[in-house]
Amino acid sequence: MSLFVKFWGTRGSIPTPGPRTERYGGNTPCIEIRADDQIIICDGGTGLRELGLDLLRRCGKQPLTLHLFFSHPHWDHIQGFPFFVPAYLPANTLHVYGASKQDRTIHDLLSGQMESVYFPVNFGELGSRLITNDLDTTAMVGNVRVTAFRQTHPGDSLGFAFEHDGRKIVYSTDHEHDLLLPDPSLAGKHPGELRPIPEEMIEFARDADLLIADGQYTDSEYQKKIGWGHPRATTVVDFAVRAGAKQLALFHHDPMHSDAEVDTIVALCNSRAKALGSKLVVFGAREGIELKL
Ligand SMILES: [Zn+2]
Ligand SMILES: [Zn+2]
Repeated sequence: MSLFVKFWGTRGSIPTPGPRTERYGGNTPCIEIRADDQIIICDGGTGLRELGLDLLRRCGKQPLTLHLFFSHPHWDHIQGFPFFVPAYLPANTLHVYGASKQDRTIHDLLSGQMESVYFPVNFGELGSRLITNDLDTTAMVGNVRVTAFRQTHPGDSLGFAFEHDGRKIVYSTDHEHDLLLPDPSLAGKHPGELRPIPEEMIEFARDADLLIADGQYTDSEYQKKIGWGHPRATTVVDFAVRAGAKQLALFHHDPMHSDAEVDTIVALCNSRAKALGSKLVVFGAREGIELKL
């Protein structure tokens, strides 16, 4: 009765292959959560392609039922979908969840990137049974309770809390916490001072065993990127501390950050958690690692 999480893509904005990023990985967002026999996928960045191939290796010709949750349709979160082989196989069923945007359903948003000018295979040629769900606030996937929450991002994004058998994983990427602060430029200047994260946001992550959260910018980078849709990593630490999360996986690494720079951000975030008197463990989400909760 455990929850398993595997990171298939951890990079934000655009894939970054190459030696500078080989430890944390260059594929865009995709994570897999397994609970009992349920397979849940968050986001369809380029990491989804590898996950699809691995599912075929693991499960052979056995029909698959998969649940895909999309935080939002920005390119880095959907660009792996046309290369997700299980979507092409008639024996498989894909439940797809996400929010509508300007009267375009999640079905329209996913199929848009497969129009003939962009991609040679039409969306209608996907062989699997595709069931799209405009996500409201909660859903059940087997015994996993899913709660969606609206985040601060250009065009909006959704975060998701997954609860199963007393365990909780929260996936919160592309969320600019700092814009919710009373004064983003002043709050939290002192390392021992928590930034005032709004209470309703904290409730979604309350007591999470694992919080996977966008931590794209350093404090100094953020000053030039206010309103771009991503937070300071240190603000996310405060969020995790306030929520009482046990572990924080920094995610959606900036495409400009090398492995060494991500290491530095992780070390700084652990120091901040310690300075706040918290036992929170902060680590950088790394492509290929699997955790058991
Ligand atoms: Zn993104
Ligand atoms: Zn985005």
